[in-house]
Amino acid sequence: MNTYRGNNIVGVRENNISLIIRLLHRSKSKTCSRAELAEKTGLKQATITYIINDLLERQIVCETGSIEGKMKRRSIGITLCADKYFIISIHITDDEIISGCFDIDGKIYHKYCYNVKSSQNISEIIDMITNAVYDMNNSNPEKNIIAVGIAVSDLTLFGNVDIGKIVMQKTGIPVFTECDANCGLLAEYWHGDVGGCSDIMYVWGKDEIITSMIIGGKLYKNKNTKNGNLTHMCINIDGEKCTCGNNGCLCLYCSPKKIVDNYINLRKKSDILDIKPQDVFLMASQGDHFAVEAVRRSAVYLGAALASAVNIMRPQLLIIGGIYSNGSSAVLEPISEEFTKRLPADYLAKLKIRLSTCFPDDAILFGAAALVIENIIVHPTKYLKTK
Ligand SMILES: [Zn+2]
Repeated sequence: MNTYRGNNIVGVRENNISLIIRLLHRSKSKTCSRAELAEKTGLKQATITYIINDLLERQIVCETGSIEGKMKRRSIGITLCADKYFIISIHITDDEIISGCFDIDGKIYHKYCYNVKSSQNISEIIDMITNAVYDMNNSNPEKNIIAVGIAVSDLTLFGNVDIGKIVMQKTGIPVFTECDANCGLLAEYWHGDVGGCSDIMYVWGKDEIITSMIIGGKLYKNKNTKNGNLTHMCINIDGEKCTCGNNGCLCLYCSPKKIVDNYINLRKKSDILDIKPQDVFLMASQGDHFAVEAVRRSAVYLGAALASAVNIMRPQLLIIGGIYSNGSSAVLEPISEEFTKRLPADYLAKLKIRLSTCFPDDAILFGAAALVIENIIVHPTKYLKTK
């Protein structure tokens, strides 16, 4: 299925709006004619005209004057109104709250970081999030902030407390929350090279190993819980005991801590105390053969687990994100080798695999902004008034 093929059935209008906005966002010149949009989406010209008229009324898109199209014909260009609506994006990590201000084309204007102390309770953290929204809003008085996107490692992290609802009540701005793996995938879907694929699996590897999916162009969501968590997937029934109570969990073989342990064991130096997983990945990218081997040993297990995951879900594209995206060939080669051993050749021939390339330090922040675009801009009738 091609991402940019639309559907003329009544009731999928919002899906068509999503296609059009994504096409305008991805267009090199950021401008398309109505005829180009019709050709690329497969939608009828009348459907494009109807949707564009509505988006013009809501000031999501604007006309840019005459552009040259096929056969050197001149036509009116359509582009996203980048200066009309803005989004505040928040990424909550263990030790920081990061906020960003974005336009609806996904361009970042400001970014602030706030340190979180381990002693702070949920109520204090929610106050910090709320203040981060106020700070961003107050420092951009000329910008029309329409919504907030919040990315958190685990939506159940705050127990039964709905942080989105509380922040929305306090600030009066619509808030959308999502787990970080899903936001990482949305960042790739909006900003990365997905080659027209609409069935995409993304792996977010940090302390846990989480997979998220876009299926048929839509983010797959499992309400109130974290889907696609491979952290405690058993890959060795006779393996050592995990803290979760099972044996041979994936995290025992390819967690960031395990990669550090691999490196220390290979160097035969138990006095290397301060090394962090990212240091091992950096050394691996610089060709340090101990670091390459430490990463490779873990990537073999990751590859075996991912072979099972992709064989079940059969995505067209697999993107390796999070900490593993720093591993270059030390990650990709063992995964590809495991896939060759474990996947049917006909499916493997069609499957594309790559490392995440989008905003290595801020993928989740950009993804939380894309989350708002997915929820607000493509549902304009619900959230955005006409002129
Ligand atoms: Zn476990």
